Amino acid sequence: MNTLQKLKQIQEGKLTAEENIKRFLEKINKENKKINAVLSLNPNVIEDAKKIDTKKKKGRLAGLGIIVKSNICVQGLETNCASRTLENWKAPYDATVIEKIKEEDGVIIGMANMDEFACGGSGETSAFGVCQNPAAPGLIPGGSSSGPAASVAAGFCDLALGSDTGGSNRNPASHCGVVGVKPSYGLVSRYGLIDLSMSLDQIGPLCKDVDGAALLLDVIKGRDERDPTSFESKAIELKDEKKIIVGVLKIRGVDPKIQNLIDEKIKQVCNRFGQKTKEIKLKHIDLAIQTYYPIVYTEFFSGTRKFDGKRFGEKIEKSCGPEVLRRILGGGEISRAEYEGRYYKKALEIKEIIKKEFEKAFKEVDCIIIPTVPRLPHEIGSSISAKEMYSYDVLTTPANLAGICAVSVPAGKINGFASGDFAKNSSSRPPAQDSSQNRSNSLTKSQDIPVGLQILCPAFEESKMFSIAKRIKGI
Ligand code: GLN
Repeated sequence: MNTLQKLKQIQEGKLTAEENIKRFLEKINKENKKINAVLSLNPNVIEDAKKIDTKKKKGRLAGLGIIVKSNICVQGLETNCASRTLENWKAPYDATVIEKIKEEDGVIIGMANMDEFACGGSGETSAFGVCQNPAAPGLIPGGSSSGPAASVAAGFCDLALGSDTGGSNRNPASHCGVVGVKPSYGLVSRYGLIDLSMSLDQIGPLCKDVDGAALLLDVIKGRDERDPTSFESKAIELKDEKKIIVGVLKIRGVDPKIQNLIDEKIKQVCNRFGQKTKEIKLKHIDLAIQTYYPIVYTEFFSGTRKFDGKRFGEKIEKSCGPEVLRRILGGGEISRAEYEGRYYKKALEIKEIIKKEFEKAFKEVDCIIIPTVPRLPHEIGSSISAKEMYSYDVLTTPANLAGICAVSVPAGKINGFASGDFAKNSSSRPPAQDSSQNRSNSLTKSQDIPVGLQILCPAFEESKMFSIAKRIKGI
């Protein structure tokens, strides 16, 4: 049953919100110990569901169960960013997106695990233990929205909410085999989001199906007086898009097995729907990582100055993990050197160039289709350098820099071993055995690993993006 069918059942009284939520709680209680996708549950979740059952006219999310990334404020729940810095900190108010979800009768089940302060792409930097990948045991679930993606994949909720600064919804969606969205910059209010990088962050949905993701995004979008970067926009409606021209890009460094799978999928779509492809060039896309990280480091440094241990929890430098500290120290350095305008200012200039290149490309094509992540997920616990970790983001950061919308949809699975030895870039070689606790012997066997395909569309063209996504996911 897909999300819209279930919604209809609840709205028509064939399934109660209470039953729906109780099923999720049972599953979470049974399986979360192993998966570690959910950090805390809403203690009032059953009462919240019961209230919806008593309503005659139910809202657009009636009784659907939602799990929220721990950097989005939910009143009374621990919004700790998976960090010791904010451990036990309960948000005193609802983020705008949460207010909107509650107004439409969505039920908040609990708070999800994540990379600490959304810094990461593997789910391994959480202070509360790594989140497992329900779709590929032993391998990273991706990040930083590891918990939201794993919760959807494990069947712990109907919908999840995450934030995407450089790929954090799309990357784990790809590794866990679900749909993950990065909305256009400004589509969704960030009021109540604990920011990673305010010129790039967007809150977006994750779901098993495209319809559910589109519905949740339509509910949470819109202008908010409390976030001056937010815009009003048209309703998100899925249509039968005809005569689409699909932009394809030649990209270096993608695992050939992943590229072949995506190429095959594009071919199928074109054959089935008579769509055309056009090869496009984005000259500066190779600079996305070098542009993204200085911006993130600088803005994160600035944003974290409020965690001085006086007002919220612990002083961040004393309580955070190594990746967060790296960004704070690096961001501090960049800020100090900035009077020469060498890093942050330069990065903003290149961001603008990348944005213009996309605008030009979208004059010729309706969407661009590329893989979401250039390689298969590594084994949990393998040691990889920061630089190697950042290279997971090569294909997702461009959309954030350009402010456009993007979605990752499952493209299929690749049978293989995922290697912890990142440097050798081999996804077909069994990993070396290791006795460390985190590693799983099951990796000596090959397994089917989900791979996501990314659809990029111009800013505020979410309706078109979801329509194309739905068509592709159905094949
Ligand atoms: N992996 C990227 C980073 O670590 C993306 C994070 C995100 O989108 N929140 O910055």
